[in-house]
Amino acid sequence: MSDSHNPQRLREFVTALAALLDSKPAEAEILRDGGALLQQLVAVDDWLPDAYAQPQPERYQQYLLHADSAERFSIVSFVWGPGQATPIHNHTVWGLIGMLRGAEYSQPYKAFDDGRLQADGAPHKLLPGAVEAISPTVGDIHKVHNAFDDRASISIHVYGANIGAVRRSVYAEDGSRKPFISGYSNTHLPNIWDRSIELKNT
Ligand code: FE
Repeated sequence: MSDSHNPQRLREFVTALAALLDSKPAEAEILRDGGALLQQLVAVDDWLPDAYAQPQPERYQQYLLHADSAERFSIVSFVWGPGQATPIHNHTVWGLIGMLRGAEYSQPYKAFDDGRLQADGAPHKLLPGAVEAISPTVGDIHKVHNAFDDRASISIHVYGANIGAVRRSVYAEDGSRKPFISGYSNTHLPNIWDRSIELKNT
């Protein structure tokens, strides 16, 4: 289950998403068609290298899996340790979240003009294979946590920018904002372009 012998799944997702974006689609199309591609990617849990599936006890991890060379999109494996949670935060760009392993809860928030924040409906539970969309148009503020207190969970996030370098905000419950740039948890990239093992077997 945590083996990584199918790196081509991620490579094919990258290629297909890049082709989709080449056609300069409207955001609704990106969320629909990119969401369908992400759903295919998270439908099978056999491709994420173990190095990008490791929780850490201090906080959740955001491992960069791929950055588009034109920074049109980035792909992150979001690894929750038991009981870990994000603060309330925004993204400022479109995003797609696909559940790969375990489960998470996402609580959407509504921001009012006077700066107040209010929970917007019930939290969404994401189970493996499910995909959720976020954006300034469809709802950009949420708080997310691991559904489990006793094991790790992993979701695959795709954003319409190099998300680790985007200036965005975290919010306190009273609506006050602090600037935030997430960065990434890793300093190396998985070499999904190395086909030597696959080519040896053909
Ligand atoms: Fe988020």
